[in-house]
Amino acid sequence: TQKPNGNLSFNHTNNNNNNNKPNFFSRRQKILEQRKSLPIASVERRLIEEVRKHDILIIVGETGSGKTTQIPQFLFNAGFCRDGKCIGVTQPRRVAAVTVAKRVADECGVELGQKVGYSIRFEDVTSSSTRIKYMTDGLLLREALLDPYLSRYSVIIVDEAHERTVHTDVLLGLLKRVQNVRSKYIKDHTSVGHKRASNGAILEKENADPSISILKQCQGRKLTPLKVIIMSASLDARVFSEYFGGARAVHIQGRQFPVDVFYTVDPQTDYLDSAIVTIFQIHSEEAPGDILVFLTGQEEIESVEKQIQENLKQLPEDRRKISTVSIFSSLPSEQQMRVFAPAPAGFRKVILATNIAETSVTIPGIKYVIDPGVVKARSYDPVKGMESLIIVPTSKAQAIQRSGRAGREGPGKCFRLYRESEFEKLEDSTKPEIKRCNLSNVILQLKALGIDDIFGFDFIEKPSRAAIKKSVEELILLGAFTDEYKLSDPVGHQMARLPLDPIYSKALILASQFNCLEEMLIAVAMLSVESIFYEPREKLDEARTAKKCFASPEGDHLTLINVYRASNELLEKNSEVGKEKRIKILRKWCKENFINSRSLRHARDIHSQIWRHVEQMGLCISSCGDDTLQFRRCLAAAFFLNAALKQPEGTYRALASGEVVQIHPTSVLFRTKADCIIFNEFVKTTNKYIRNITIIDGFWLTELAPHYYAKQ
Ligand code: ADP
Ligand code: MG
Repeated sequence: TQKPNGNLSFNHTNNNNNNNKPNFFSRRQKILEQRKSLPIASVERRLIEEVRKHDILIIVGETGSGKTTQIPQFLFNAGFCRDGKCIGVTQPRRVAAVTVAKRVADECGVELGQKVGYSIRFEDVTSSSTRIKYMTDGLLLREALLDPYLSRYSVIIVDEAHERTVHTDVLLGLLKRVQNVRSKYIKDHTSVGHKRASNGAILEKENADPSISILKQCQGRKLTPLKVIIMSASLDARVFSEYFGGARAVHIQGRQFPVDVFYTVDPQTDYLDSAIVTIFQIHSEEAPGDILVFLTGQEEIESVEKQIQENLKQLPEDRRKISTVSIFSSLPSEQQMRVFAPAPAGFRKVILATNIAETSVTIPGIKYVIDPGVVKARSYDPVKGMESLIIVPTSKAQAIQRSGRAGREGPGKCFRLYRESEFEKLEDSTKPEIKRCNLSNVILQLKALGIDDIFGFDFIEKPSRAAIKKSVEELILLGAFTDEYKLSDPVGHQMARLPLDPIYSKALILASQFNCLEEMLIAVAMLSVESIFYEPREKLDEARTAKKCFASPEGDHLTLINVYRASNELLEKNSEVGKEKRIKILRKWCKENFINSRSLRHARDIHSQIWRHVEQMGLCISSCGDDTLQFRRCLAAAFFLNAALKQPEGTYRALASGEVVQIHPTSVLFRTKADCIIFNEFVKTTNKYIRNITIIDGFWLTELAPHYYAKQ
């Protein structure tokens, strides 16, 4: 029922009459035209005025209207980066931070990492000249540990706030505090009696003053008022406005063409199959235009990608013109920009995406959307203390956002792979993540920021008392907190500094005492990525045989270490050849061994990053060599909260939660008869599974975690 409003002066790619000019010029001009045609371009001046007038501003605008890419540039041009200050833009997703930064650097005609850069966990592409910095919301929280008043920023833009990730929620609370402290400090110090240095920095007063410590923590940077901008795609700005005391909200009119929504007539049992069928149906029956398919994760995307390639082989030559691209969070950053490239002439592009493409990243050219109606989400049981990733139905708001992606450049179609009656049953909107996740990570960080009263923290929406309590208990058990709820020294402080889940940080700290930090670094890196082993349905036997070469009878952790070390050997053997060639060799080796090369490379990156972190912290990095017993004892000491005992009927009982679980078929211990194991992942599908498992000795638990097991 929506009508396009405004003219579409878009994509005049062939209208360029500067054919004799160098390519560079025409490309810049094309970008300029695109920028000018964005709905946001016409309101630049008004937006800047609003920012000048209001310290907190909420900007709501249709996805694709240009908020993320344009507003930081407007602010830069309006002088918000004077005195070397930066504009920080947070994103819930790493991929969005990276792709948007690349786009904006391109639009500004600068090299990425100079004026425009990005910073995400394990990857920092910024320099001292960076003024517009895209980053994940989690990363800005980490930065606050070193720069508690965020003194390098004049403006912080919290983008995609409607996503309500746990980090966004905590960040909003933090920004509220920081903004208050900064305004108060400035008010107190612009009165007479304070000297200013020539660079404008306020000089410290001689006598003790609490604000002096503030200044010290800003590393001498001049404190200016902080502007906070909250940007969101959904129409409901009220929660944010109320939270910030009735803050001003502005709406940016977008463009949206009508999208026809189709539902399936029958219920679908396998949405992956249905998605593949629908792709080919569109390809043979519908007009040209690209297809966007929403899937839940890397594994699904890669399996659909393979299936499409298989199906294409069955088609006659002239109908094979489909090119697939994918986008998901752990895709190596050099591959992420591929989704934006147009398909070869005459080809239809099929984009396989996680819900990254729902609002964070706008890909041009989409005319068809396939929405299976599911999403991977975190879920937490505070009574049992078990967190898991589960596949759940989307909300109505998400379904509507997804279908909207088909109507950006012209009328489109959306195929929902469920029945219309199912749509009516969906929740209106998604529950904020803070209500459904383990909070120990966030609580540890708040404590490290000096926020002592977690229950009293001004959350936009309070997590349940039970969830806070459970997470605090967990942090005490891990030794991060003392019994008086203080950050312990040095363990708690070390844990807060590592960019990992507290339980993994603890494992690394312990491993330096158990002389197996080399092994633990590999294990933690490998556990940080999705699915190292690749098991295609049609080659299951071959894949399992390949896996046997790496399998350790003691469990998955040592198996993963074997894979990592084998890849090390391979690369060392080829140390003479160039980087490109080495990557090729690694990819080939991965293929032969049914290992996911993207995941392995990602793990190798993470490994070198956390290695640097623990080295800086002064932990002792050594290897236990063949003494795997030592490593397994360390696993028991670190993951004692995830221990499970064999039940008479062959299942396992997780000791901390009492949950009865089964070993996941992908574990090398699938058929084990071991009495006691530890696990790292709890997966809930129709069954309750545990994954990443190692055999331990039950007695170790009372020996190594007496504070937990001796009491029981
Ligand atoms: P919003 O934040 O309002 O959703 P964006 O600023 O992300 O909008 O996007 C504005 C426009 O820029 C969109 O039309 C999008 O297609 C385009 N765009 C963003 N990134 C790229 C890219 N890497 N390549 C091509 N176009 C892009
Ligand atoms: Mg955006």
